[in-house]
Amino acid sequence: MNKLLRSNVSCLLKKLSEHTEIYASTEEDGVCILAKLDNYEEWTMNYVRTANSVKDVFFPQNEEIMKYKDASSDLKIEAPKPFKERIAFGVRPCDAAAMLLLDDVFLKGEFYDSYYKERREKGTIITIACEKPDQHCFCTSFDLSPGATEGSDIVLYPTEDFFLVVEVTEKGKKLIKDNAELFEDIGAKPEIVDSYKNMRTVLGDVCIPNDLNEKLKGEFDNSYWKKIARRCLGCGNCTFVCPTCHCFAVCDVARGCDGKRARTWDSCKFQDFFLMAGDHNPRPTQIERTRQRFMHKLNYFKEKYDKYQCIGCGRCVEKCPVGVHIADVITHMKEEL
Ligand code: SF4
Ligand code: SF4
Repeated sequence: MNKLLRSNVSCLLKKLSEHTEIYASTEEDGVCILAKLDNYEEWTMNYVRTANSVKDVFFPQNEEIMKYKDASSDLKIEAPKPFKERIAFGVRPCDAAAMLLLDDVFLKGEFYDSYYKERREKGTIITIACEKPDQHCFCTSFDLSPGATEGSDIVLYPTEDFFLVVEVTEKGKKLIKDNAELFEDIGAKPEIVDSYKNMRTVLGDVCIPNDLNEKLKGEFDNSYWKKIARRCLGCGNCTFVCPTCHCFAVCDVARGCDGKRARTWDSCKFQDFFLMAGDHNPRPTQIERTRQRFMHKLNYFKEKYDKYQCIGCGRCVEKCPVGVHIADVITHMKEEL
């Protein structure tokens, strides 16, 4: 097993930046975010979870997907330039695992999303295990842990002055080999890694019955949806910060006959999201929209991919201004059904 001195991290990021874009955990006005870094001294470990998740690195909030030029009879389409190699550094284990759920949506099946695919192929995820999960964390409910390796290429396990380094994928192995002068082989130290993997999260294990999705099938008209929807503000915070939410809208921004096509995140909590031609809206109130969000995560996604669409990062728990969150929904449904 290798070790990486904390004091070597800036050096590593700087070296990697010679041929890759670096997205790392950094602090801006007291808020920790995962953002593109130019100054590699600015990375920080001063967070439990970054305000945004690693989703942003591979599926950005706004992106141009093509430009078009209509010279009347000769329409020209211009694709975006190829993406650069990218490294996400300081990702938490739950967020790295969330990428596997996005892979299911964007890469598997008959069609794939070429923009997402290219970024994923050119991306490397370096995760830092969580030293102190906070009161909102419940990743252990989803068979993950503060030391989980799912979805990561490399996981760094913090000790007082260095990280123990676990290479998870061939990509991760190569990165360490190519930067060998910054790492030091110290033999096996599995007990530290195990202590992270065995740590329980603070919210406690929100125990999820295996058949919750089955039970939810008959609960379309459960009065609980109405109860929690009553206080929802429809702000969309919960969906935007969620590393597994992936709905988007596509729009054309035109000037005369020329323009660009862009896609932006969208939210099932917004009224317009469901609006159809003829002004028909099948989910006209927050009741249907709230039900849709939780049914998607706990029933429909599980039916389709055999996984719940949540990794217990706690962002929606932390960010919802009126305390509507999935851990409570699971607990309530478990007790009621
Ligand atoms: S639903 Fe909430 S806890 Fe689950 S992954 Fe999304 S933001 Fe995290
Ligand atoms: S964050 Fe809370 S208030 Fe805002 S849309 Fe989500 S559930 Fe509703």
